Amino acid sequence: MVTEKIRFFKHIQKSVIHNPMMNNELDTQELEIRKDPLTGAQSVFNPRLADKATIFFGKSDTSLIKRLAKQSQVNCFLCEDRWKRLTPTYPADLIPEGRIQIGQAVLFPNIFPAAQIHGVVRVGEKHHVPLAEFDSATVADAFETSLTLARRLKATNSGVKFLTINGNYLGPAGASIAHPHFQVVGGDLPFTYLENIMNLSRKYFQRHQTCFWNDLLELEKTVNERYIGSTGPVKWLASFSPSGANEVIGILPERSHFLEFDQNDVAGLARGLVKVLGGYAGMGISTFNFSLYSGALGETDGSFRCIIRVISRQNVYENYRTDDYFLQKLLDNELIITPPEIMVKNFRALWKTPAEASPES
Ligand SMILES: [Zn+2]
Repeated sequence: MVTEKIRFFKHIQKSVIHNPMMNNELDTQELEIRKDPLTGAQSVFNPRLADKATIFFGKSDTSLIKRLAKQSQVNCFLCEDRWKRLTPTYPADLIPEGRIQIGQAVLFPNIFPAAQIHGVVRVGEKHHVPLAEFDSATVADAFETSLTLARRLKATNSGVKFLTINGNYLGPAGASIAHPHFQVVGGDLPFTYLENIMNLSRKYFQRHQTCFWNDLLELEKTVNERYIGSTGPVKWLASFSPSGANEVIGILPERSHFLEFDQNDVAGLARGLVKVLGGYAGMGISTFNFSLYSGALGETDGSFRCIIRVISRQNVYENYRTDDYFLQKLLDNELIITPPEIMVKNFRALWKTPAEASPES
């Protein structure tokens, strides 16, 4: 039984204060602590914080976003064909043409790499794209350039084993340019989080002889509180104990690493990511981060599956405060503003066709 293998841990704590907003009377607030079923990463939900959410997340200032986009468009190296003059190229033995171009997507190396492989991908020719207007064909091309790089890295015996495809969108999410772009990063060592989940997935597999990610999917479909739906081979759900605001995870139950991906996987990922961004847009959100994780390229022991994690970040408005403080950065705890079981409703509405929304699919 999956329920004997995976536990959705919840723990209630009481915090007691004399509250000046209640005539200094004794005020007991109940906090719900959750733990991620694989990593144990904690999150905390205080229902009373929901009333204060506007202090944490001010509304997106769309006129400010448009103004900033207009200002930055003039010198944007991803706009028009400026990337042809202004972006670096890979050595010809890795990429004969220097850059990988598919449709409007172009992948080229970051001039200041933060990893052995650090590619930047132009996601479409449009400089400013509101979250509701991302287009799945454009996003699919961006994913496809990244996977082409993965295949080239393998074919040329580059020694790169671990790759992730990531996105920062707009300043509050850490992006230094407004133009939509992805980043492919990796090397001969896995990143901390990837190494952690690969190790924990392997331990789980050794203990149960089953894959954690497929078990999680089966359990979430049964519980049906956080399962959202599928886009082709990709299955989407809200995280029980999120590691970021409004976290949505996509699982590819048949894929362990990027070299196994086919066009169906790419199309499903792009379509699902675009739906999640549409869901965020409906919630008034203007920024996001995502990471798509792969197991070691060309290797599989059955314990790991490719997953994508999408989170929202602080909205764009003047004088915003960051949404990450010591709680997230140094204590590795996340604050839940909207419980995943409530948040999931924003996405279920976008998985309208019964086939995609059904846990049977
Ligand atoms: Zn641009």
